[in-house]
Amino acid sequence: MKVTVVGCSGSYPGPDSPASCYLLEADGFRLLLDLGSGALGALQRHIGLYDVDAICLSHLHADHCLDLCGYHVARTYGPRAPYPMLPVHAPAGAPARLAAAYGMPDEPGLETAFDFVPLEPRSFELGPFTVTAGLVNHPVEAYGFRVAAGGRAVAYSGDTGECEELVTLAEDADLLLCEASFVERPDLPTGLHMTGRQAAEHAAKAGVGRLVLTHLVPWNDQAEVLAEAGRGGYGGPIELARSGAVYDLA
Ligand SMILES: [Zn+2]
Ligand SMILES: [Zn+2]
Repeated sequence: MKVTVVGCSGSYPGPDSPASCYLLEADGFRLLLDLGSGALGALQRHIGLYDVDAICLSHLHADHCLDLCGYHVARTYGPRAPYPMLPVHAPAGAPARLAAAYGMPDEPGLETAFDFVPLEPRSFELGPFTVTAGLVNHPVEAYGFRVAAGGRAVAYSGDTGECEELVTLAEDADLLLCEASFVERPDLPTGLHMTGRQAAEHAAKAGVGRLVLTHLVPWNDQAEVLAEAGRGGYGGPIELARSGAVYDLA
């Protein structure tokens, strides 16, 4: 399995990265986790615009799903349209929300290009991947994912505050893509996002092979985020996500 960080900027695109998007490839199958603001552009540095086989959206905040609107244009009006319907596993409100964001009626909305499948906390197969979705700790319906293929596993936190379910999803995973949106300060809100230290604590509990800190909010000093993660009691390698970084888990 190969994992490419397409976008890792938290909450809005930064100068060096779009918002959340990760490309997972195995046996020629290409799965996207999230398609946040700006990600559709950077995705084309790695694969062709029409080479996506399935998409999973962790939740319906704009920085995780909004580029599906532009992708609808590409798949509906592109030079070889119509393109095959693309499965999009997303929270149940996705069709109406994204139709509203695009500025079209709910029916048919984006469902001429995308086959929306409501997410639930369960496992399902997508090509060679076994995807497990679990509810995480965020103000809206939000999922973390575990994606396994060929004896390797990647876990992705989506957006979450501290969350036991994330530890379950990430158990013994080769790689944990964990959000670290906050730097430590008094009175941080709970149930929203995590600090680097909290991300490392989750990585330690889950016993993952590698921790990649992501959903990095551009106004933070990322060196501080990384330093805080170093104090989370996790003994494995820790690094900051970077748009274009590739992890080959073969
Ligand atoms: Zn976010
Ligand atoms: Zn969010």
